[in-house]
Amino acid sequence: MLEIATAKGVYLYSQDGKKYLDLISGISVSYLGHAHPRVVDAVKKQAGQHLHLMVYGEYIQSPQVRYARLLAEHLPEKLSCVYFVNSGAEAAEGAMKLAKKAAGRTEIVYFDRAYHGSTQGALSLIGSRKLRQPFLPLLPDVREIRFNETTDLSSVTQKTACVFIEPVQGEAGVRTASRDFLKALRNRCDETGALLVFDEAQTAFGRTGKLFAFEQHAIVPDILLLAKGLGGGMPLGAFIASKELMAVLSSNPALGHITTFGGHPVCCAAGMAALTALLESGWMKKVKLKEALFRKLLVHPAIKQIRSAGLLLAVEFDSFAVCRKIIDRCIKNGVVTDWFLFAENCLRIAPPLIITEAQIKEACRVIMEAIDFVMQNRKI
Ligand code: PMP
Repeated sequence: MLEIATAKGVYLYSQDGKKYLDLISGISVSYLGHAHPRVVDAVKKQAGQHLHLMVYGEYIQSPQVRYARLLAEHLPEKLSCVYFVNSGAEAAEGAMKLAKKAAGRTEIVYFDRAYHGSTQGALSLIGSRKLRQPFLPLLPDVREIRFNETTDLSSVTQKTACVFIEPVQGEAGVRTASRDFLKALRNRCDETGALLVFDEAQTAFGRTGKLFAFEQHAIVPDILLLAKGLGGGMPLGAFIASKELMAVLSSNPALGHITTFGGHPVCCAAGMAALTALLESGWMKKVKLKEALFRKLLVHPAIKQIRSAGLLLAVEFDSFAVCRKIIDRCIKNGVVTDWFLFAENCLRIAPPLIITEAQIKEACRVIMEAIDFVMQNRKI
């Protein structure tokens, strides 16, 4: 197993001084690469001013306020109230509580092969029986329906508090919701009064070529979940809604969601620095070209399919055994990648957005060599 000593840009350096090209960004976290100077400076500066002061809410903590404002400036009016938490799973928990209280309903609908986190509430919405089974009973009143199957939307009814969806399912191996499906889902939620929750933990911050994946579809959710890249490499999550909707959590009881460290000042400062650097850069504009370059260079009879949404790609092989060997060979040759939770036969590519064309070519050369090596040795 690798032991990383330092990380800089798109590279990880092991204890023995070997250099590895990072094709997964800590699962879509380090979108600017590692140790971006603006993020490191922001962390140092905020650490010198203050760390944790009080449970979230009692004092105004300017790093939270500034970052929430910046996010709101880049989101529709309906998504202008940001509640910072610690992680993606806590963001899902907050959204479930908000939806249940706002709608006065308990049912939550989610999709097959969905992933929203590993706490007991979030785990109740996991589209995998295997991962859920050992921890039963979980939340009652949850209902799984099929992703991209419009006919299943009739299961969303007047009893449904909310529907959770990843506009691009990450752990399912990059499965993109079709525009028509999302439109039908939005309509069904409007008809029934169910709230629509988009989980963009993996797809936000330019990963798909737009700041948020939902911008591609012109469909706005009622609640947006952010995590992973949100803290610029520090732990931070958020659930975001309108001011009116979020107000539901501040009465009866007044403390609808309590989190000691949620919105930690250092994490907010780091996230703000990363997002500011991203917005000032041209990296998002190049995402689609870089995606196309990966797709152009990764052509091999052993590759069954490539599914992608910007710089989030799943390269599908016959089996987990083959995929695993290819991944091991890539790592041995200095390219870090892995598979997906619900798509073990797919190799994950989600590099920092700053990856250059030359680095993509080098990564693809190593992957192609690994595929040849594994396929040749399989025949023997
Ligand atoms: N939602 C999605 C779509 C995710 O991919 C993840 C993490 N893989 C989470 C939520 C949970 O985030 P965390 O691990 O920060 O709880």
